[in-house]
Amino acid sequence: MTLFVPIYTIQSTNEYSTPHAPTQIRLRAYPTGRVTDDIWLVSHDPLPALQPGEIRVKIKHLSVDPGMRGWITPKRSYIAPVQPGEAMRAFGLGEVLETASKYFKVGDHVTGFTGVQTEALLDGRQMRKVDLSFAPARSYLSSAGMTAFTAYFGLLDIGKPKAGQTIVVSAAAGAVGSIVCQIAKIQGCRVIGIAGGPAKCGYLRNELGVDAAIDYKGEFVAEALKLAAPDGVDVYFDNVGGDILDAVLMQINRHARIVVCGGISQYTDIEHARGPANYLQIIAQSATMQGFTMRDYLERIPEALVSLMTWQSNGKLKVREHVLHGIDSFPKAFQMLFTGEKQGKLLIDL
Ligand code: NAP
Repeated sequence: MTLFVPIYTIQSTNEYSTPHAPTQIRLRAYPTGRVTDDIWLVSHDPLPALQPGEIRVKIKHLSVDPGMRGWITPKRSYIAPVQPGEAMRAFGLGEVLETASKYFKVGDHVTGFTGVQTEALLDGRQMRKVDLSFAPARSYLSSAGMTAFTAYFGLLDIGKPKAGQTIVVSAAAGAVGSIVCQIAKIQGCRVIGIAGGPAKCGYLRNELGVDAAIDYKGEFVAEALKLAAPDGVDVYFDNVGGDILDAVLMQINRHARIVVCGGISQYTDIEHARGPANYLQIIAQSATMQGFTMRDYLERIPEALVSLMTWQSNGKLKVREHVLHGIDSFPKAFQMLFTGEKQGKLLIDL
């Protein structure tokens, strides 16, 4: 197994001169099935000269997301797959060290697709400036970032929860799910979270205040859900797909909304992802099942940001971050998404 072997170092004449060449984690080859560490390669390639419109960014924080599994799958999706040899795609946050973009000055902090690398040349038009006096740096990747916006728009726009209704959330102790649970409580809903293990279920009940938590690793979800939701389910915020989606479909109410945010139970064999066996319930209950990506809502980010920050400052919204250190921790972090060995939003500090 090849682990963290530098693959090549380009020595060009116009390279940016730095005493320590930046580090990149690159995709070596597309995985099939479960991802193993040998799909990654480390390189230490110097950066070329800055081109007009570009910024040179020192990357300080990285977000590690289940969606990355889709980005290394050569199949039609909402975004082109990472090509073998390229630095792995990742959301990140960093500081501008050098600029040839009219939008940024040295010292600005920016977020967007930075890639899994310590330093990068990025297209200024693709990056968003962030204000660290408004929120701490890491929160732009968690409570004030893509994860939180996904929870906000997925639940409120697609789930359309009403006070008194019953909402079920899977991967409920995770980055998106934990925010969905809390926004649903703020809307006055009865919230049932599904997560793996007693510790995460305890967190959901005791820290996030959900009404019931189901440990899908230790309980039969269908049976537990009948007890937890005796009046049926009005909104299901689905992060996992698979058997849990099928179990919830059997208990949806008339005109229920199923928000298809993710399907992580299918990502280890993403080439053969299966749909729900119980989809005929959507007809029987005149229900709606709708997918989305955060990209549908880019223009409404300011609206989400105001609500999320207000709830946080009022103590109504808590966000738990699980932080690893160093770019070398990326392969381990990637695995943790699928083993569930992490608590909350997974981030790497560089
Ligand atoms: P996360 O929930 O913080 O981490 C993933 C969690 O999924 C793990 O901690 C694990 O928690 C659970 N999990 C892993 N394998 C599972 C399985 N086989 N069955 C059930 N649960 C499993 O990740 P996230 O960033 O919040 O993302 C959650 C979902 O939303 C993912 O499917 C992701 O792809 C999706 N997403 C979609 C969008 C969008 O724009 N549509 C944006 C962001 C994320 P347990 O310990 O509870 O098992």
